[in-house]
Amino acid sequence: MTLDSSVRESDPAGTVPFSRMERRTFAIISHPDAGKTTLTESLLQAAGAVHEAGEVKARGDRRRARSDWMKIEQQRGISVTSSVMTFQRGDILFNLLDTPGHQDFSEDTYRTLTAVDCAIMVIDAAKGIEPQTRKLFEVCRLRNVPIVTFVNKVDREGLSPFALLDEIAEVLQLDVSPQNWPTGIGGLFHGLYDLRRSGLLVADRSDGVVPGRWIATESIEDPAIDTAIPVDAAESLREDGGLALASYPTFDLEAFRQGDLTPVIFGSALRGFGVEQLLDVLADDGPPPQPQPARPAPVDPGESRLTGFVFKVQANMDPNHRDRVAFVRICSGKLERGMKVTNTRIGKPMALHNPITFFARDRELAHGAVAGDIVGIPNHGTLRVGDTLTEKGDVTFTGLPDFAPEILRRVRLGDPLKVKQMRRGLSDLAEEGVIRLFKPALGSQWIVGVIGELQLDVLQTRLDQEYGVALEFEPSPYEVARWIKSDDPALLKKLMETHRSSMAEDQDEVPVLLMRNGWEFGRLQEEWPGITFSAVRERS
Ligand code: GDP
Repeated sequence: MTLDSSVRESDPAGTVPFSRMERRTFAIISHPDAGKTTLTESLLQAAGAVHEAGEVKARGDRRRARSDWMKIEQQRGISVTSSVMTFQRGDILFNLLDTPGHQDFSEDTYRTLTAVDCAIMVIDAAKGIEPQTRKLFEVCRLRNVPIVTFVNKVDREGLSPFALLDEIAEVLQLDVSPQNWPTGIGGLFHGLYDLRRSGLLVADRSDGVVPGRWIATESIEDPAIDTAIPVDAAESLREDGGLALASYPTFDLEAFRQGDLTPVIFGSALRGFGVEQLLDVLADDGPPPQPQPARPAPVDPGESRLTGFVFKVQANMDPNHRDRVAFVRICSGKLERGMKVTNTRIGKPMALHNPITFFARDRELAHGAVAGDIVGIPNHGTLRVGDTLTEKGDVTFTGLPDFAPEILRRVRLGDPLKVKQMRRGLSDLAEEGVIRLFKPALGSQWIVGVIGELQLDVLQTRLDQEYGVALEFEPSPYEVARWIKSDDPALLKKLMETHRSSMAEDQDEVPVLLMRNGWEFGRLQEEWPGITFSAVRERS
């Protein structure tokens, strides 16, 4: 990994140290193709972090070309890894956590959402709420993550703004508060009226559709609107915008922060409409770093000791090295290079020699990272998803989920002499959280569990390229895996003895019961009412 060794400590003008700027740490959630990549690019461009549209994608392509195992991404045209982009706008630092859009990787996305304070939900104006959007929204709701909605592609034909707002309100059971209003959608799109600031961003349609003049207005009745856009567009804007103002709730900070109301911004990520306004809403109303759930007590971002948790571990992009980068959300304190912290899972100290921050798309040595920031910590497998790092004191962050796999497979090795390498590779990838690994109580054939087929492809490719192990999958006799728990240790022991041939341990040595099918699962639940069969396990 090449790092820019220069250390950024302050903004280009050199006035405000980065560590004293406000933070907004957020993710974008959406259904594939709604425009997440385009919006990411557009946000970075609006903040001056990249200079040309297409730069994020172009750099992404170059990076992908360097990394063999990510050929899968190229072949399938999807993004399977999350990354982090930090950018500055005014005196605020934005940390944007990218999440994979494909549903096979939703687990990774869930974990990433534990590390943000806010999310942008991107909706395609022609499609409304799609299944993946809804699933991800539910995760945000579980954690009360406030949502800003961006209705994308208003430059194309789509549903009416009213239909879209009503759908969001109805399907997601959320109050919606439009912050701007398009004069029309598709061919009728002549601009965006800013309902917050009262002003019209005129669409210049002379050469494609691009943002043109900004006209400050007294209100939506202002006659200046009539001279800026066609008369019928002005009329429908007044009619519909007026109706919208009267029918939907006005923005309420408290309700937004509690996750009960979503501000809605109409726009076009591709053409740069509504993007500035989206940044304004995040800057003005987006939550600063929030207290994080932990034992024995939640950690307040204002605490002076450094604390953080690992929400993601990623293999180094360079397949010749076994290095891992653990992505850590800082929850309190300030990180300085060389600092010593304790990994509370193993009770061992470690020094943070080369923490990395991710400026736009560049990696730099981190210095002065504070609550809300994400840093990458290179390591050789000591850090796992869910680990807590702390400068001092007793604290363990909670709430990072592992989900029960939906597909179980036995692994078969091409070359029996490579058992050691295979076990090492499977264990490493299980620690990264790419797969679940089950070691049966009887017999020696390990079972891997994944949420989607695509993860099996990733596993196969990475074992081949990083560990030199050719792996085949065989059907497993089991379809269902559940973590088992009980308040009654004797009862748990009895279950484990009765079903010894179906017992296994996961990669963290937590007991798991493997079942042949849903029917058997149902029967066991009835037979063992004192046992909890859990589809989710907190990592810490
Ligand atoms: P992702 O899968 O959510 O990351 O979606 P992308 O950002 O890759 O966008 C999917 C497609 O929609 C691409 O062809 C984009 O060019 C297109 N797209 C994205 N935003 C807009 C927009 O505002 N207007 C139009 N017309 N197309 C858009």
